[in-house]
This record gives sequence, structure tokens and C-alpha cells, in this order.
Amino acid sequence: MNLPAASAPSPEPPRARRGVRWLLWGALVALLLVAQSLLVGLTLSYEEARAQDRADAVAAAASGEMRRLVQRNLQSAQSLTWNDPPLTQWHYDAQEMLRQRREFLRMEMRDNDQRLLDAVETPFRPPLFGTMARGELEIEMHAACATARRVASPQFSRSYFVPQAGGLGLEVVDLCLPVDRGGHPSGYMIATLALGQLLEDASNATGAGEHELSLVEADGTRLVRAGLHRGSGVFHATRLVDLPGNSLQLRADAVQGRPGLIPNLTLALVVGLSLLLLGLVVVLARDVRRRSVAETALAEALAFRRAMEDSLVTGLRARDVRGRVTYVNPAFCAMVGFEAHELVGSDPPPYWPPERIDEYRQRQSERLTLARDLNAQREGFETQFMRRNGERFPVMIYEAPLLDRVGHHAGWMSAVLDVSAARRMEELSRQQQERLQATARLATVGEMASLLSHELNQPLAAIASYATGSLNLVNEADQQPGDTVVETVSMLRQALERIAEQAERAGRVIKSVHGFVRRRERSREAVGADVLIEAVLPLVRLQARKSGTRLEVECPKPAPRVWVDRTMVEQVLLNLTRNGIQAMEGDATPLDQRVLTLRVTQTHARWVRVSVIDRGPGIAPEVAARLFTPFFTTREEGMGLGLSLCRTVIEQHGGALDFGPAAPNGANGPGTEFRFTLAVPDPARHAAEPSAE
Ligand code: ADP
Repeated sequence: MNLPAASAPSPEPPRARRGVRWLLWGALVALLLVAQSLLVGLTLSYEEARAQDRADAVAAAASGEMRRLVQRNLQSAQSLTWNDPPLTQWHYDAQEMLRQRREFLRMEMRDNDQRLLDAVETPFRPPLFGTMARGELEIEMHAACATARRVASPQFSRSYFVPQAGGLGLEVVDLCLPVDRGGHPSGYMIATLALGQLLEDASNATGAGEHELSLVEADGTRLVRAGLHRGSGVFHATRLVDLPGNSLQLRADAVQGRPGLIPNLTLALVVGLSLLLLGLVVVLARDVRRRSVAETALAEALAFRRAMEDSLVTGLRARDVRGRVTYVNPAFCAMVGFEAHELVGSDPPPYWPPERIDEYRQRQSERLTLARDLNAQREGFETQFMRRNGERFPVMIYEAPLLDRVGHHAGWMSAVLDVSAARRMEELSRQQQERLQATARLATVGEMASLLSHELNQPLAAIASYATGSLNLVNEADQQPGDTVVETVSMLRQALERIAEQAERAGRVIKSVHGFVRRRERSREAVGADVLIEAVLPLVRLQARKSGTRLEVECPKPAPRVWVDRTMVEQVLLNLTRNGIQAMEGDATPLDQRVLTLRVTQTHARWVRVSVIDRGPGIAPEVAARLFTPFFTTREEGMGLGLSLCRTVIEQHGGALDFGPAAPNGANGPGTEFRFTLAVPDPARHAAEPSAE
């Protein structure tokens, strides 16, 4: 678990970074808009170019068609004058021609002076000059005929407007063909053509449906138009239609106007795609924003975690499934005195004391085999680490399995506590306790000194009197006759035996006090409860005798065994019995009721209860509340340490000490029962330990 550097400190402040990000996004959107506008513009101009090209093509095709039609009509008209047919024949042929060709409106035959000889009208229309007389509209025709005669070839006149009934009119052009007879000019044939019809035919032939075709003059005046729709005047092209004697301009004007933005499919596609792109950019921007928010949150969380880990005083250590260190926090580094890079990946880690590497490896492999039972690993255990300077120190390790994202076991995370200070404190407090207890013991003994002197006085007085008696016997034997020697020796032996007995008794008393005061090493052992009681009984008896108290010991046989530090528990017993005896010393307890009971009961397979019961006046509630407070006492010579020490000792043994009325409803006064529990030896744990009987 190589933790990534939480948030690499950036040279830019976050505000500036945000500004740059916004600038980039703005530039991207602007670029997109420019690109899209260009695309739309290009599409529009392409559309326009295409429309213009179409208009050009239509104009070119229509003008070509016009020229072809005019040429054909010219030839048809010429065919009427071949061989200079008689007028009646011409009339007949002209009628036929007019029936076939709709663009011809009228045909005339004129003499050399352009006087009208004959005229034939198209059968499809009312007479052309019905509204206005031909005579008034002949100027263009005369000019064309004069030119035709001069150049000896057919000529078209300038176009002119012939009014028709109902306010309408027709734009027409005259074709003048000079007629010769026998090589001499004999007259003219005039064919009047409807420009509108010609244009309509050309339009139909070229399929210029989407364009309006019109013939215009040089100054732009429109003469005729063809086509179903009007041109929009946006895309148009003009071509010249050259006729002999005249030239017309043909203009093709596209119906389609400037390409619209929406109805155009290509444009719609481009605009649609642009919008889609813009939408994608927005979605992307949102996604990026979300990511950036998540990134910031992650960075903050990482920074927070790092700060937290750095500020912890608990050492943190992560190991992979193979037991190699993958992460340590600063507190751990400070604890062992190695840098993080010296620890990560090290095998064995440098903080393992060299002499314990094998043991630790064994333990590690055991833990790895237990890896499946992930919950079983959370209990703390104490072990020893080594600092860089070689100092060994105790640590408490709480280890928990590390799971990866998919829940697989990826290693171990340990919280490591340096408990050397705590251990030192414990040791210090233990020493202080022991010193205090020793003091308390001495105080107890001090209290007993008078008792002791009284107790020792008796055997010493007995010894002294036996010794005096023995001396007297020896003196008397010197003066007595020999037969009394045997008797004297026997009496002397008796006296000496008494002396020895009394000396032994005095020795026992001294030994019991010595054994109690002597400071012994603290050690636990399995010992019978009766043995504990026996040990304190001589001292208890000393005190009991003084106040006339009887002692009762109730202990099942065989006595249950307990796992204790003998000296300590004996001291507890002595304190409690002493308190009980002292409670009965006053006037409140008559002499015959002064009984102190020591009772041993097995309350549970694992627990033994020891009770010290007196028949004293009991404990007043205000005294009971402060009973276990150190230095609380009601006696003038008391130290007030007894009960508080007793409780500490019993609790150190894992038991509990409390008290209550001895016989709540008893007739002999309430009395007090002090009781404490002691653990019986655990055969599994204490089998190899020493046992004292
Ligand atoms: P000390 O014996 O030096 O006074 P202890 O802690 O042993 O100190 O006892 C504190 C006080 O508790 C005693 O002074 C006494 O008043 C009270 N006490 C202890 N045991 C008994 C008892 N069996 N009956 C009545 N009072 C008791």
C-alpha cells in the first residue's frame, strides 16, 4: 500500500488554476463556435455557388435552344419563298405553316415597295393587329427589310409590343426575307414571331422548371418571361441570343432565393451536428467539473488523512500479505528511529531485534495462515521492537486485516503503541506499592510490639523460673545423699524440656513476626486456602488472646487451592482479622460474644471466597462511604492504609473485596463480614508453575 503523495503541492493557487481552467473551456467553446460558423458559412457559400452554377447552366442551355428554334423557324420561313411560288400557293403554304408552328403569329407578302400583298394569321389567336392597325406598327419591320435587302439575307427586326384586346399585349419580332424573282428583287416575306412562345418552347426543351426565363433588352427592360414561378432575383445569369439583325439577352433567374438556414438539409445536418457537438462539449464539461469536484474532495480527504496520520502519536504500519512493510506513519518512524524509506519493503524490518528474528518470523507465518479468519486478528499483543540505537522496548500491537476495493485480503494494518513509558510507570507504581505495603507491615508490627513483648514475656519468664528451679535443684543435689540424684536428674530433665519448649515457643513467635515483616519477591503460586490461614493464625491468636476473642476457622477439607502471592494475601488476612478483633474490643461486644470467624467457601469452579466475620458493632454509613480511602481511620493509632491496600492487593489478583453486615437479622449485633475472592489455579496456564503446600 504505497500511499500516493496526497496532494502534490501546486505552485499555483487553486483560484488561479480555476481561472486557467475556465479560460481553456472558454477558448474551446469559442473555437467550436468559430469552426461551426465557418462550416455553416462554407456550406451556405457552397449552396450559393451551386445555385449560381445552375442558373448559368440553365441560361446557357436556354439561349442555345432559343438559337436553335430561331434557326429552325428561319429555315421554315425560307422554305415558303423557295421557287417564288404564286401568291395563292404561298397563301396556302403559309396557312399550313402557321397551323404547325405556334410561334408564328402572322405571315405577310409584300411587294418591292413593302406594300402588303397578302397576309395570313395564325389560326390559334385572334388577328394580331385587331386592336392596333398594322400600319402603325411597321417601323421596325421596314428597317429590318431595308437591311435585309441591303445584305440580301433574312433579318430580324427589333422587338416591339403589339397591344391586344383586354389590355393585354404581345412582344413580337418580325423576320423579313427578301424575295427575288429571276435574280431581281420582287418583294418581301414577313413572318411575325411571338417571343413569348419561343421562350416558352426553349424553357420546356431545357427543363428550366426551377428558373424563370426572360428576354431582356440591354438596358434591363424585360420583354417576355416564361416559367411557372417567378425568379427571386438572387441567382441569375444572362446570355446573348444572337439573331441576324437583332440580338436579345436571355436571363435565367433561379426561383430559389438565398439558401435558408433551416429548410436546407445539408445545413440542417451541419447545424444539427454542431448542436450535438456543443451538447457533447457541455456534457464533457459537466463530467470534467464533476471529476474535478471529486478530485478536489479526494485530495482534501487524502490531505486530511495524511494530516491525521501525521498528527497521530500512535504508530501506524501496513504490511502486505507476505509481511513486508508497505507503509509507516511519522509516529512509527519516530518510535523506532528509522526513516520511512528504510522501513518500506525491508525484510526483515530493521526494528526487529536480531536475536528474535526467527521467533517473529514464526509468529508472522502463523498469522498469515490465520489470514482467512479475519476477525480473529483484532486482539492486541505485546512484543518487543528495537530502536535504531539498539535499545529494545516493549510495544503493544493492534492488528486488523486490510481489505482492498473488492474485499480481498491485501495485508495488515497495525496500530503500534510504545508501552515502555507505561511499563516504567507500572514498575514504579509497583515499587511504591511494595514500599507502602512494607511500611504498613512495619506499622502493623509496631502496633503488635507490646503484644509481642507480652507474648515473649511469658515463655521468657517461664524459662527464667525453670532455670532458677533447675539451679536450685542442682544446689540441693550437692548437699543431698547420692540416692536422691536420680530423682533430681529426672526433675532437671523435665525443667530443661520446659525451657526448650518455652524457648521454641518464643522462637516461633519471633519467626512468625519475622516471616511477615521480611520482604519477599512477588511471585504467584498455587497454595491451599488453609495454608494461608495457618500462616497468619499465630499472629492473629496473639491479638485475639489479648482481647479474649475466640477464633473459629471454617474450611472445607480438602481446602481449595488458590493462585496467589502468599505474602500479599497473608497481609490482607492479617489486616482484616486485626480490624475484626479491634472492632470487638470495645464495650459494645461482651466478652462471651467475641468470636472471629475465618470462613473459606468455594463459590464457583474458578473462585474461592474468604470471609472474616466479627461480632462487632458494625460499620456506620458515613464510615462505610470512606472505608477504602487511603489514610482514612477512626483509630488514634491507626494509619488508615489497611483496607485500601487490601483492596488493591485483591484486585491485583483479579478478585474483589467488599463487606456487609455479618448477620443482618442476628441477635448478636450486626457484626461485619469482610470477604474477598481469589482465583483457583488454571490447570492449563499454571501447570508448570511452582506449587506450595
Ligand atoms: P486502620 O485499621 O489503620 O484504621 P483500616 O483501613 O484497616 O485502617 O480501617 C479503616 C477504618 O475502618 C477503621 O479505622 C475502622 O473504623 C473501620 N473498620 C475496619 N474494619 C472494621 C470492622 N471489622 N468493624 C468496624 N469498623 C471497621
